Amino acid sequence: MTQYDVIILGSGPGGYLAAERLAAKKLKVALIEKAYVGGTCLNIGCIPTKTLLNSAKLYAHLHEASSFGIEAKGLQVNWQRTMAWKEEVSKKLRRSLELTLRKAGVEIIRGTGKLTDGHSITVFPPAGESDGFRSSSTSASQSSGSGSLEFPLVIKGQKIIIATGSSPIIPPIPGIKDNPAVLDSTGLLSVAEIPSRLCIIGGGVIGIEFASLFSSLGSKVTVIEMMDEIVPVMDRQMAIELRKALKNVTFMLGTKVTELDGKKVLFENKNGEKGSVEADIILLSVGRKANIEDWGARESGLDIKNRAIATDDRMRTNLPGIWAIGDVTGKSQLAHAAYRMAEVAVSDILAGQNAQHSDQIFVAETVPWALYSLPEAAGVGLTEQDARAKGYDIQVVRMPYNVSGRFVAENGFSAPGSIKIIIEKSSERLLGIHLLGAYASEQIWGAALALERKLPISALRNMVFPHPTVSEVIREAAWSVQASGGTDQ
Ligand SMILES: Cc1cc2nc3c(=O)[nH]c(=O)nc-3n(C[C@H](O)[C@H](O)[C@H](O)COP(=O)(O)OP(=O)(O)OC[C@H]3O[C@@H](n4cnc5c(N)ncnc54)[C@H](O)[C@@H]3O)c2cc1C
Repeated sequence: MTQYDVIILGSGPGGYLAAERLAAKKLKVALIEKAYVGGTCLNIGCIPTKTLLNSAKLYAHLHEASSFGIEAKGLQVNWQRTMAWKEEVSKKLRRSLELTLRKAGVEIIRGTGKLTDGHSITVFPPAGESDGFRSSSTSASQSSGSGSLEFPLVIKGQKIIIATGSSPIIPPIPGIKDNPAVLDSTGLLSVAEIPSRLCIIGGGVIGIEFASLFSSLGSKVTVIEMMDEIVPVMDRQMAIELRKALKNVTFMLGTKVTELDGKKVLFENKNGEKGSVEADIILLSVGRKANIEDWGARESGLDIKNRAIATDDRMRTNLPGIWAIGDVTGKSQLAHAAYRMAEVAVSDILAGQNAQHSDQIFVAETVPWALYSLPEAAGVGLTEQDARAKGYDIQVVRMPYNVSGRFVAENGFSAPGSIKIIIEKSSERLLGIHLLGAYASEQIWGAALALERKLPISALRNMVFPHPTVSEVIREAAWSVQASGGTDQ
């Protein structure tokens, strides 16, 4: 039986980063993957959606190009080429990731892993299809780089990291099962043509990105959301602004889907009014659930809370020698949160090797999020509604993005965009920063740093920002706090 220092189950952002870092410290690492290396993010999540959204952005900008002095005639979407580009990006990034991992000394084992006890995993042959996408033709022996493997393969590890990720929730709506019009996000990423009519059930981050993508490419999009507003993670006022900016999308808020009848989506709103909408494709995007089934989580006695693997803030599970990271922990469903959890677990494992304690912990509160719709949105920390609900005495500043010369030059005077900063009045400490508009996803890290370091608003005021940049709105907003009563340092 092959012995490893660490076995990692699942090769998404959490699993592959942990593998690379541990191997760099000369530990013998096995990374088990039943589908594609890179996990959801690289193959059916972050990267393919952002690639398609960029094509949609180009198309949308070219439609407006004449205002900027560029005449673009005969614009067309070549969907086959768009999809081919999306495939190429994921494939090349995946190959380069596999190469990096192998160079680092990580043994990649293709197959489905099952925890057999606290120190060993049995690997079964990879299935033909997984999570909606076909497994690669690469054989287990090629992937592992260790000659031909005999399945089931039992491997032993001193330590184990669980990084099995999450998958879409299928709500129990009558008419969903075996309905060819119904797809999840993975299915929608492979459609042969742009749907003329797309109905999206669920107005969270994934639903809104797809709404923005397909409405920009000409689909008639309807979003049905049970809550009173889209994207619950967003500051409510910013979510309203985003919804209004998505001009070619029909939103039905406070509305529940009651049944699907072929391509017809039947719904009822909170006033009891019923109706229906027809669509060529119906996207289910009501959330994702941690992958805790089928790999022995319950049988091995791992603590499961809120349908996810429970860990402490060092990513330790209740079983000694087993850590869990990423979506499977239910702490966050973001790739960069999975990266951070991986770093924290790795640091804990390495410190343990030297009989020490790691000082690294995972802090969910200052993990930024981003929504890559057109326009983009991003945020970190408390929303205004959350800050008030928690009883903070707050000051709120809002400012439109068109105070930035660069924003106007690139987007015009009436393009949607704004910043909202929330500070605690007494201490002037930053509690939340929320952005809507071009480059929001690229700017939010600076806000996250400020919040993570518990900085006061003066830290942003006293920083020099490059000019002209859209980021300057952050500084402008910070100065307007002073103008509205704050004190300078
Ligand atoms: C459409 C979409 C868009 C997204 N966009 C973004 C975005 O823009 N930014 C962002 O931060 N996040 C985004 N996400 C979320 C992001 O993809 C996840 O948060 C991230 O991939 C989680 O990483 P992970 O390592 O926890 O798990 P995953 O990436 O889900 O990887 C888990 C891996 O484990 C494997 N596995 C599971 N069980 C077993 C087993 N028993 N044996 C072997 N292998 C197993 C799976 O095949 C999978 O490859 C998006 C998600 C989706 C669906």
